[in-house]
Amino acid sequence: MIYLDYHATTPVDSEVLAAMLPYFSQRFGNASSRSHRFGWEAEAGVDKARAQVADLIGAATSEVLFTSGATEANNLALLGVLSAAGPGAHAITQVTEHKAVLDTLAVWEKRGGSVTRVGVDRFGRVDPAQVEAAITDRTAIISIMFVNNEIGTIQPIAEIGRIARRHGVYFHTDVAQAAGKLPIDVEEHSIDLLSISAHKLYGPKGVGALYMRRRGPRVVLEPQVFGGGQEGGMRSGTLAVPLIVGLGQAAEIAGAVMTEESARIRQQRDRLWGALQEGLGDAISLNGPPVDGDRIPANLSVTFRGLGSEADTLLTALVQHVAVSPGSACNSAHADASHVLKAIGVRAEDTRATLRFGLGRPTTDAEITEAAAQTVRLARSLLSAAR
Ligand SMILES: *Cc1c(COP(=O)(O)O)cnc(C)c1O
Repeated sequence: MIYLDYHATTPVDSEVLAAMLPYFSQRFGNASSRSHRFGWEAEAGVDKARAQVADLIGAATSEVLFTSGATEANNLALLGVLSAAGPGAHAITQVTEHKAVLDTLAVWEKRGGSVTRVGVDRFGRVDPAQVEAAITDRTAIISIMFVNNEIGTIQPIAEIGRIARRHGVYFHTDVAQAAGKLPIDVEEHSIDLLSISAHKLYGPKGVGALYMRRRGPRVVLEPQVFGGGQEGGMRSGTLAVPLIVGLGQAAEIAGAVMTEESARIRQQRDRLWGALQEGLGDAISLNGPPVDGDRIPANLSVTFRGLGSEADTLLTALVQHVAVSPGSACNSAHADASHVLKAIGVRAEDTRATLRFGLGRPTTDAEITEAAAQTVRLARSLLSAAR
């Protein structure tokens, strides 16, 4: 079985697991226990992780707080800033965001706030000029993801960050799919808030972080979870020390291997795309930016045109050998067609015939050869049956 669904989640790196293990047993203390050594050890693990995460994004240690994942970080960033800005505050986002941003902003609308969702071009890119044109005197935050989780589009983050800064509006970005894949620098990209997830980065599930700028500007937000006052009162709840240690280690490794890993994955991805094109010709098309364009190396979103009612059969048959997701992957809990593919103009019947290939750290050349062969063989036989 070949796993090519690394956008959905990644396995925990063995070094990450090794770093985590002592914190489940010997160093099990509560990081908030200030009076004894058990607490100090746990706190030291958390401090190190905070520095490791901060390093990956060019932040200061005091600007990183831990959450249960990117979903919670997005909720805290958006509802936190908007609540602090007051009733009726305005947010700007774009149509291909993850549901953790779109659904959170829909909640803000229900509470009486307002939201503008700008469109994207056929590659899934936001036009920074449209973002700027949407700014009003009530705008408190702009939220644009760094990389799209379905089609791999890299957004013009630095440009949008500069616009937000110029207008005195906070800029938030969800980097769940960018962290460890592309260099991220909160200064260079003028980012004020940023959400990160460990399990997309060869860390454990159930932990993430929010970066919150401390100066120039200092981000003001209202906490969304109340209790023991951990994380400076911004996110109460006993810290998940082993998971946090894992996130830190994962971030450090990602920073160290990123350049080399991206180059290898790009080669493998290009070879996969080449083999699919060679085997299937114009029966397939690529969704999102071209492979040499503003697209992360790990992603290939492919529509198998002309499959008609056989589209579902392709996925069912392929996943016997190759674990991929339908194009609408992150929503596979719902049956709805992908809002991302729809936004870039993919026709409804083609949306169903779309597969998302996601390559990762463990992907081997042999797996790519095999995955390409299986996909071509199955798609060819279904295409000839559909004709
Ligand atoms: C996976 C993902 C999330 C959710 O992250 P969790 O840590 O699982 O909550 C949010 N945004 C994007 C872009 C993602 O890919």
